Amino acid sequence: MADNGRLTVLTGPSGVGKGTLVKRLLDQHPEIWLSVSATTREPRGGEDEGVSYFFHSRDAFESLVAAGGLLEWAEFATNCYGTPRAPVEEHLAAGRPVLLEIELEGARQVRTSFPDAFQVFLAPPSFAELERRIRGRGTDTEDSIQRRLARAREELNAQNEFDAVVINDDLDQALKQLETHMQLLAL
Ligand code: ADP
Ligand code: 5GP
Repeated sequence: MADNGRLTVLTGPSGVGKGTLVKRLLDQHPEIWLSVSATTREPRGGEDEGVSYFFHSRDAFESLVAAGGLLEWAEFATNCYGTPRAPVEEHLAAGRPVLLEIELEGARQVRTSFPDAFQVFLAPPSFAELERRIRGRGTDTEDSIQRRLARAREELNAQNEFDAVVINDDLDQALKQLETHMQLLAL
């Protein structure tokens, strides 16, 4: 039987560049399996069902929680987000490296259920730069931006809980650091 794959958790404030970095990581390392989360948030332009997220009504999401179908879940900026359990377990059992891109409360839950997972916090070079990136992305309403910035302060305060902190200033350097932490670079 193959050894179990390694589980990595990537957490960081909204707008820090998690999606951008993860896309680059997966382009370089197609062996990594990225978990697709369930959410009650509305799709943004260009987001496809089953690719970016599984988009659910509140009722459907609550049924998933009640059935134990989520490995972890949390509320973020008035919406619910969670990791479907079965595909994570299947890919780990098949020996694939598995990546979860989730917020702080979810990362804390995974620390309990998967204590061997490696947890990386992606931090911005400064709070002002974080705000510039969220606004520059142009996908969120002012209300949602304010909620995300308030939550960002809480998340930044918790970065010491993580196994490693990567600062997303230069994207290439952040990618190299993440690859090193995920043990993806040849020695
Ligand atoms: P998240 O997934 O963490 O919410 P995104 O990947 O959507 O963040 O990135 C937010 C914005 O910041 C995007 O417009 C993206 O192009 C930009 N961005 C990401 N990484 C960097 C970087 N290293 N330097 C400058 N801008 C970046
Ligand atoms: P967004 O709405 O910008 O796609 O995501 C908002 C936040 O939800 C981000 O911090 C993202 O990491 C987090 N998130 C996405 N999927 C999950 C998940 O399955 N569980 C948890 N706990 N957070 C998630």
